[in-house]
Amino acid sequence: MKQSLLFVPTLRDEPKEAEIISHKYMLRAGYIKQVAAGIYAYLPLALRSLKKIEKIIREELDAIGASELLMPALQPAELWLESGRWNQYGDTLMRLKDRHERDFALGPTHEEVITFLVKDVLNSYKKLPVSLYQIQTKFRDELRPRFGLMRGREFIMNDAYSFNENASSLDETYEKFHQAYINIFTRCSLDFRAVQADSGNIGGSESCEFMVLSDIGEDTIVYSDSSEFASNIEVHNLPVGAPSPDGKGTILHAKGIEVGHIFKLGTKYTNSMKAQFTNEEGNREDILMGCYGIGVSRVLMSIIEQNNDDKGIIWPKSVAPFDIHIIIIDPKNNNQTAVATQLEKTLEKRYEVLIDDRFERPGVKFSDSDLIGLPVRVTVGKNIDNGFIEVKFRDKDEKFEVKIADLVDFINENY
Ligand code: ATP
Ligand code: MG
Repeated sequence: MKQSLLFVPTLRDEPKEAEIISHKYMLRAGYIKQVAAGIYAYLPLALRSLKKIEKIIREELDAIGASELLMPALQPAELWLESGRWNQYGDTLMRLKDRHERDFALGPTHEEVITFLVKDVLNSYKKLPVSLYQIQTKFRDELRPRFGLMRGREFIMNDAYSFNENASSLDETYEKFHQAYINIFTRCSLDFRAVQADSGNIGGSESCEFMVLSDIGEDTIVYSDSSEFASNIEVHNLPVGAPSPDGKGTILHAKGIEVGHIFKLGTKYTNSMKAQFTNEEGNREDILMGCYGIGVSRVLMSIIEQNNDDKGIIWPKSVAPFDIHIIIIDPKNNNQTAVATQLEKTLEKRYEVLIDDRFERPGVKFSDSDLIGLPVRVTVGKNIDNGFIEVKFRDKDEKFEVKIADLVDFINENY
């Protein structure tokens, strides 16, 4: 892909509105642009990474037998009145009226809609359990939208819902999601911790949050220095130095960004919305429900928050918008352009390649390249006359002079 054709509006100056490093780099490197407070456009580079995160999510959720669907963002008030949340949810719910003065909301979450969809369909124990998921834009009129994509008023969420016939079936599904979430965040190269959580106003019993460890996190995690014990401070308000409740080690605190949350909801929605099934004994019962959510756009920003240096983003391989950045030092030099174009063709058989063919000074190209943060940089300059090009990996300082003929092997071995 030619960089001259891609829309990457990089900025020279520090964006004043950005308080955290990931927000600063996403703006400066041309990944996002704010349209209104807490509302952003994902520009082409960001969208490529977003799609990779979504692909990882789809692969892991498909693997546990969940199936994808897509629900409407526009939701009728009737469903929210039925669940009791129309009045409960408050100002965070984006409300609007249609031309007939009927009330609607832009979905901040989809428990009501999904319960409406399955009720009377999943009507027998023989049809349970079922898990459904979607990846969709959500709307929440947050009191303080901030840190760019971290707390938006419009954001992308992957939400999933399970319908189970009894507690052990729900336990089993919950464990599957728990493991799938660990796989997803690991594949996204995030340094995270699964912590016990408060189930908040969604209601229900067991609940677990997935926290990316970061000083800019809004949540405080209390954890043991010598066991798996970790909890949101909202659940276990333990001071630093206290003995861990599991008897192993002492308590430390860390800050976390919540990127995922799983709940055992129980019958909160199925009861109020009358989603029942016939059990093996022939009796009617409320379906048990679980709900599971990942902040997809927040994940994107969290990856950057944890992977950067003073020059820009350092993308992990699995979610980088492209693998390789080819820099043509002098695009007016026909030899350089020819070699670079040939390399692009060859590398594209195996990798995603961005080629900087812009008529810019080399210094600008290198600093933009560091800012954008693709894992491999291949520089095509004067040294091609001797048969060499330069290779550098974004996460290391070393530069390698590599024979043009050996480039593909070199990248295959070292990337
Ligand atoms: P928070 O405590 O950060 O407000 P939440 O607990 O209200 O989030 P959930 O209802 O659990 O959010 O939503 C599932 C996931 O969606 C969260 O774990 C988070 O990653 C993401 N998320 C929630 N609100 C936002 C937002 N305003 N902007 C971006 N992502 C969000
Ligand atoms: Mg939550």
